[in-house]
Amino acid sequence: MKFSDLIFNESIKRSLSELKYATATPVQEQTIPLMITGHNVICKSHTGSGKTLAFGIPLSDRLLTRKSGGVLILGPTRELVVQVKEEIGKLNRHTGLRVYSVYGGHGIGDEIGALKRGVNILAATPGRLLDHFKRRSLNPRIFDTVVLDEADRMLDMGFIDDIKKILEMVKPSSVHLFSATLDGKVAKLIHQYIPQYKEVILEEEIVGKNILEKHVQLRSSEKLSELMKILQMAGKSRVLVFVSTKNYVDMLTEKLISEGVSVMGIHGDKSQKYRELALDDFKKNKAQVLVATDVAARGLQIDDIEFVVNYDVARDADTHKHRIGRTGRMGKTGYAITFVSDEDGLPKSRGRSGSRRPQRSFSSSRNKPFNRNRDGSNRSDDDRGPRKPFNRSGSRSSEGSRDRDRSSFSSRSDSRRSDDRSSSSMGRKPFTRGFRRDSRR
Ligand code: ADP
Ligand code: MG
Repeated sequence: MKFSDLIFNESIKRSLSELKYATATPVQEQTIPLMITGHNVICKSHTGSGKTLAFGIPLSDRLLTRKSGGVLILGPTRELVVQVKEEIGKLNRHTGLRVYSVYGGHGIGDEIGALKRGVNILAATPGRLLDHFKRRSLNPRIFDTVVLDEADRMLDMGFIDDIKKILEMVKPSSVHLFSATLDGKVAKLIHQYIPQYKEVILEEEIVGKNILEKHVQLRSSEKLSELMKILQMAGKSRVLVFVSTKNYVDMLTEKLISEGVSVMGIHGDKSQKYRELALDDFKKNKAQVLVATDVAARGLQIDDIEFVVNYDVARDADTHKHRIGRTGRMGKTGYAITFVSDEDGLPKSRGRSGSRRPQRSFSSSRNKPFNRNRDGSNRSDDDRGPRKPFNRSGSRSSEGSRDRDRSSFSSRSDSRRSDDRSSSSMGRKPFTRGFRRDSRR
């Protein structure tokens, strides 16, 4: 559907046409009319499907028609919050709405000055937002709409206490949840804040279609040389490499530099300035490779990342999904390669076939990540504490919404977990065959 066929503010449409966005993505097509008419929305749609504008457009429109007060968008990392602010800022180039972001790791002074001038749409990390509330540099009651971007992350143990505090202070009349990974627990928990909502669940599977995946089984000592092979094959394409700890980011970055690779590293202990520089160099092709912890797993839009390499396996299936979702965005094709070493604790031989056949080509959804929590130390790295499993006592079970249908949340995640460990897709010398740059498009 064309944006011109949807009913919303003309200044926003003008910005969209300047951005050369003519057609609404499926998720946008569904959320825009619902949110403009005042429904709370819980939305699950795959990585890179355009969720930011799916809430950005209708919420900007509601502000312009004065149907709502301020809009607060909460996200898990500073980089994501900045990106969301930029994206929604572009949308509002001609509307006169003030779009701003607040996040930790840099001076709060400038933020205070800007907030004094007024803000209509604010993207924030929870910690810094609470700082502003405490200092009274921002009045929570100017907001009446809250969006939790990457909602499942925002509602898990690393953030939930802050989110509860924020929601209690803001007392929003609307709350919206967006993520590529949501399950029934999230819907249950949020019920106390959103008694009525519409679900927008788009189950399109992009793994196998836009994201071509494979797993490579190897020894730890073979990882570096395997990565070098990938880099060689990647030529000048951007490669994003995920490792499990901040230390490993530093170590691998050093090793790659000594191999002559143009690389930057990013993790939560780097200064904010450095984090911005690393991301910028990567975006501008000054660095071909970015080595990262899961601080870069969620939400980041970097054009044309062709390869995501899980140098260390992700700690759970959802994190894996977000990591590999940095490629294959907006209909493009990308490649996700996961290294699986013995240290990842996989059984020597298991699964349906128990075989370790070499894998010849990228394939689809049977290549699932390994749903295993390892040591847990230093593994969560966004702008909050370590991720812990959902606390059941934090959930409230309650009935009442006519619109709600939780079953559609829960079914997929359950089935996903049960087949996570299929090992039939692994092979020992998998990377070399059946894969040439020329044949990729
Ligand atoms: P998600 O949050 O679902 O992962 P994003 O909101 O980050 O996805 O969007 C991914 C990319 O697609 C961004 O660069 C965004 O500007 C672009 N985009 C969003 N909507 C459209 C559209 N309707 N047409 C073309 N590009 C779009
Ligand atoms: Mg997003």
